[in-house]
Order: sequence, then structure tokens, then C-alpha cells
Amino acid sequence: MILRRHAYLLGFLVGVVLGGAVTTAAPAQANSFGPPFGFLYADSQLHTYSYFHLTDRGNLAFDHAFAWLDGQTDMGVSRIEPATEETDVLAKDARLGDNGPRARWDCVLISGSLTTCRAGDATLNIDVLDPQNNKNWKKSAYHEVGHSTGLDHAIEATNTCMKTGAVLNDDMLYLNGHDVEHINGKY
Ligand SMILES: [Zn+2]
Repeated sequence: MILRRHAYLLGFLVGVVLGGAVTTAAPAQANSFGPPFGFLYADSQLHTYSYFHLTDRGNLAFDHAFAWLDGQTDMGVSRIEPATEETDVLAKDARLGDNGPRARWDCVLISGSLTTCRAGDATLNIDVLDPQNNKNWKKSAYHEVGHSTGLDHAIEATNTCMKTGAVLNDDMLYLNGHDVEHINGKY
């Protein structure tokens, strides 16, 4: 089953309503990590990835992102080719349309799980990312790789790639210390 975040959130909310649970709004957070409000967890400390239909720019951007995750967090990050059904991140470029997102993360759940991805696709949108601006590619690659660990969007912080939108400063190319704490706390 391909699971997209909004479908997951909708399902969760429907479940809450049908279940009659009384909930209060989640407090505003710098960024949330993991379900039910954030993105889903990776299945282990070892994060494997493969490349598929990547342009040179996409290749370079993902090279940076995975090397950074490997060097700056407790996750073990390893490229494995060719991809298998267990590959945690299949990194690729695609034409998602001029009105599409810069990039997207789609994950497949572990069978029977509502919290953990078995594998997923990190896709950069060739139609939107500016071919003249490598920073947009790099930030988008880091952003989707961040989602693959469970990181949600940054609400307030502007020093992380998990902030949506344009690259306003070089800190927005990377995860910040708060993001790394989340990752190291889990994996
Ligand atoms: Zn995102």
C-alpha cells in the first residue's frame, strides 16, 4: 500500500472521530517527529538507499544529503544497488508538473504497521526545481531524506531544510541540531 501523508492523517482523524476519542489540539512545536502528527519512522538505524532515473543535479544533491546523514547523525547510511523492496529510500527525479511540489516523499508501510515505513520514494520534481540553482536541488534532497527518518516540516525554525519554501540562507540546506537530536534519539 502506498501511503501518502495526507491520506494517513485523514485516516487518523477519521479514526479519532469514529472512535469518539476526546483530543486536544497538539501544541505548536518547532517540528514534530514521527507519527501520528509527523511523518512515519524509518524501520531501523541502517538507512539504505538506491538511485533511479536521477539527473546529474539530482545525483549530486542526494549524494550530499545521504553523506551528511551518515556523517552527522547516528544513522548508518549505505547505498545499495540495485534497489530491492527493502531499500529504505529510492531517490529519483521525475516530472511532477509545473504546478506540482518541488519534491515529495512516499512511503510503503511495514505490513501491519501504522507507524513505520518499510521503504519509500524520494522524488525531486524536474519541472519545478530551477536548473540554474543547485541549492534548490540540494535543499529538496535533504528535505525528503529528512522526511524518510520521520521529520516533519519546521514551523518556526528557518535554519533547517525541513522549513518549506525557498532557500533563504545556507542553514536551510541542512538539518539543524534539533532535527539531529530527534534522529539520534530514535535510531
Ligand atoms: Zn515536506
